[in-house]
Amino acid sequence: MDAMSRRRPAPRAAAPRLLPSSPCPCGLSASYGDCCGRYHRGQAAAPTAEALMRSRFSAFAAHDEAYLLRSWHPDTRPATVDFDPGLRWVRLEVLSTTDGGRFHAEGTVAFRAHYTEGREEGVLTEHSRFVRHEGAWVYLDALTLG
Ligand SMILES: [Zn+2]
Repeated sequence: MDAMSRRRPAPRAAAPRLLPSSPCPCGLSASYGDCCGRYHRGQAAAPTAEALMRSRFSAFAAHDEAYLLRSWHPDTRPATVDFDPGLRWVRLEVLSTTDGGRFHAEGTVAFRAHYTEGREEGVLTEHSRFVRHEGAWVYLDALTLG
């Protein structure tokens, strides 16, 4: 998910409006408030690596920098997250997962993140690695696709 933030630096954009009743950007059927919103508000911790990955996609969609930083491993966490104001994260496809369950310490999630930039549509494919840090799932880094 590094590539989702390592685009050109841009001025801070207003966060896209996301209400508790909005469809959750991560693509699950629950509303944002009942899905990733619980994690963003700190009311619950993502129980699996996949849930954390989905909540981070939603945080990119909602420009929730604070959540992205606190769900990033301190060894790889950037100082800030730059959101490209012209880019909208619109859809997430989880392709596969390994481990990352309630009793695992590590896990990976391969996904495709779809975005629009003006009239153009694009997709970012990544295989992300997650670990537990102080009991909570955090994003560590991206594995090389191959
Ligand atoms: Zn969600």
